[in-house]
Amino acid sequence: MLDAASNRPELPAEIARRRTFAIISHPDAGKTTLTEKFLLYGGAIQMAGQVRAKGEARRTRSDYMQMEKDRGISVSASAMSFDYQKFRFNLVDTPGHSDFSEDTYRTLTAVDAAIMVIDGAKGVESQTRKLFEVCRLRDLPILTFCNKMDRESRDTFEIIDEIQENLAIDVTPASWPIGVGRDFLGCYDMLNDRLELMDRADRNKVAESIRLEGLDDPRLDENIPAHLLEQLREEVEMARELLPKLDPQAVLEGHMTPIWFGSAINSFGVKELMDGIGSYAPEPQPARAEPRQIAPEETKVTGFVFKVQANMDPKHRDRVAFVRLASGHFNRGMKLTHVRTKKPMTVSAPVLFLASDRELAEEAWAGDIIGIPNHGQLRIGDTLTEGEALKVTGIPSFAPELLQNCRAGDPMKAKHLEKALFQFAEEGAAKVFKPAFGSGFIVGVVGALQFEVLGSRIEMEYGLPVRFEPSQFTSARWVHGDKLPVEKFTNANKQHIAHDHDGDTVYLTRLQWDIDRVERDYPDVTLSATKEML
Ligand code: GDP
Repeated sequence: MLDAASNRPELPAEIARRRTFAIISHPDAGKTTLTEKFLLYGGAIQMAGQVRAKGEARRTRSDYMQMEKDRGISVSASAMSFDYQKFRFNLVDTPGHSDFSEDTYRTLTAVDAAIMVIDGAKGVESQTRKLFEVCRLRDLPILTFCNKMDRESRDTFEIIDEIQENLAIDVTPASWPIGVGRDFLGCYDMLNDRLELMDRADRNKVAESIRLEGLDDPRLDENIPAHLLEQLREEVEMARELLPKLDPQAVLEGHMTPIWFGSAINSFGVKELMDGIGSYAPEPQPARAEPRQIAPEETKVTGFVFKVQANMDPKHRDRVAFVRLASGHFNRGMKLTHVRTKKPMTVSAPVLFLASDRELAEEAWAGDIIGIPNHGQLRIGDTLTEGEALKVTGIPSFAPELLQNCRAGDPMKAKHLEKALFQFAEEGAAKVFKPAFGSGFIVGVVGALQFEVLGSRIEMEYGLPVRFEPSQFTSARWVHGDKLPVEKFTNANKQHIAHDHDGDTVYLTRLQWDIDRVERDYPDVTLSATKEML
């Protein structure tokens, strides 16, 4: 078995044992169930069902969470840390619904690998595919879990073929299912020559594992009916002939994915997958940054904000910046430099997201995710260092594709609305523009469902009913250039000018023709569809 730590001998052992990953899947494939089983085997929870139960307790607190529940979507991403054998797993949760892809994309900048969960009956679905493409852009290593094998599922070769063809990645079987649907007995572990038998009676019981000596081992005859055993031998032989062999390097480079078959709800195949994460997912990787890349083994601490979440705890009105540590050994109370503002920042109450609850992080290492409560200084894309002016790059900001006017139900509450909207803008939940002329705000999002979530959150968290109405504008462009030409441009186009939550100038329009015209008439002014996260 490959020990990833041996690949990078310079990594301190504490860093080398870390595996930071996300689960990508189409809604309903079994991500929540699998997460729960991970936590169960990581010893983070005592009983399956706690994650959901806890989620529900939290959800009752607010309507938008209610919405999340009704629609079966998970709006907010969070991080969970737990130990498994000699490893420390950091699982970063990604929202599943496509309208929240912005958040998801950013989350994927904070992980070193992804687990792709597919439903054995459905194969590669639309959302899996989209998320996979994002992983591919970053060459993220991907491990695949084919779930729900206890139900009627597709033929094993067909599933593997579909992934290979649909996603253009080599697939190598790490396990091979025995029987389908009601006849599904378990898997043959192709990497470790074991027979894993599923226990249907006890869903939380770890499968019985029998060490074998090859496919002719008589223990197979004792446990598998003859017709299924014959089929298994045939299929495994064919698989070994036709499918690529596991190549750990190709997995690390994102060209090959090992696939495990299992049933999350029956706790089956989950441990094998976790072992696989330990063995084939990489340890913390270097972070891309300007003017130089950051290596995790550097002794100085650096980290970057990939997500900001406001009002996580409605009682405290706090705002938590999720920081991925890119290098070093962090200790509570450390003084770090907030590179964007060049200001020092003492991190006295960092939070580690243990599955059971939030907990104060006394220390953390490169690869870990910590939460830093703050009052709005920390924004998505910000870098923290011990003084060096480094900026982590590659955290995407998306052009808002849908614009709507937003007004407070009570016109006297416009100031409150401004505060709420700007807070969500800083959180990265929406783009907010204040027109230079007229009243109200224009809110820009990537997916229409974001308007609804925003509306419910403003009402719940700020007690402000709001209305969204169609806007005359359909596009927003950030205005760049020297002061004089920009002033000349904005003065001549006042009806189209607005400012975002940072006070930066934005040009609002409904026609591509307008944008082309600006580019022609004002050569010293540049319009951009996204604002680089500063
Ligand atoms: P998510 O939307 O991806 O988080 O999916 P969930 O974990 O909520 O699972 C969706 C549904 O599939 C739930 O009803 C689960 O109980 C069910 N489910 C999850 N894993 C399995 C499995 O291995 N077998 C079967 N039959 N159902 C499963």
